[in-house]
Amino acid sequence: MKLLEERILKDGQVVGDDILKVDSFLNHQIDAMLLEEIGKEFRRRFAEVKVTKILTIEASGIAIACMAAKHFGVPFVFAKKTASKNLVGDVYTSKVHSFTQNVDRTIMVSKKFFNSDDTVLVLDDFLAKGQAALGLCDIVAQAGAELAGVGIVIEKSFQEGRSILDARGIRVESLARIATINEGKIRFI
Ligand code: 5GP
Repeated sequence: MKLLEERILKDGQVVGDDILKVDSFLNHQIDAMLLEEIGKEFRRRFAEVKVTKILTIEASGIAIACMAAKHFGVPFVFAKKTASKNLVGDVYTSKVHSFTQNVDRTIMVSKKFFNSDDTVLVLDDFLAKGQAALGLCDIVAQAGAELAGVGIVIEKSFQEGRSILDARGIRVESLARIATINEGKIRFI
């Protein structure tokens, strides 16, 4: 997606060898107009699939899924990273390791929002080592729902997430695919 690639080159900041900071338009301050186009593009890519629900993970996935959900005309659900009094009753859980924060988390989704009739599109901001996406796909499997695929805003193709999902036969649609980050320079596939 050209608009997104241009924005990454203009406003993205490389941290170290493998982290891209996009907090001026995606992860902290959010460009709603760009997200509107991102939502539209996910809809275009999964146009032939009858998606009934979108699943993402808090916090950065929420705005992305919200815009996409509008274009698909379906509700979205976000997996929670912390237990709270608002999350009562039966929940699906999955363990996710975060390499950026070096912690293990149990993500949780209330069982009442998914059933075996659902076709679920998983969305997230980044694909790095694939752990967040796998955790979300695991929840879809636990619900007995069908997985439409995984939609990613920014894929770091030089990390193993893409090949892990490919190896499991999961359809992945990434709107920007970064082939390399070299001395602060980003090259797309
Ligand atoms: P994975 O589970 O694929 O290793 O990592 C995906 C998650 O880690 C995303 O949900 C995202 O929040 C975070 N992440 C991984 N790499 C980056 C990065 O380069 N920049 C930012 N901003 N987040 C990242």
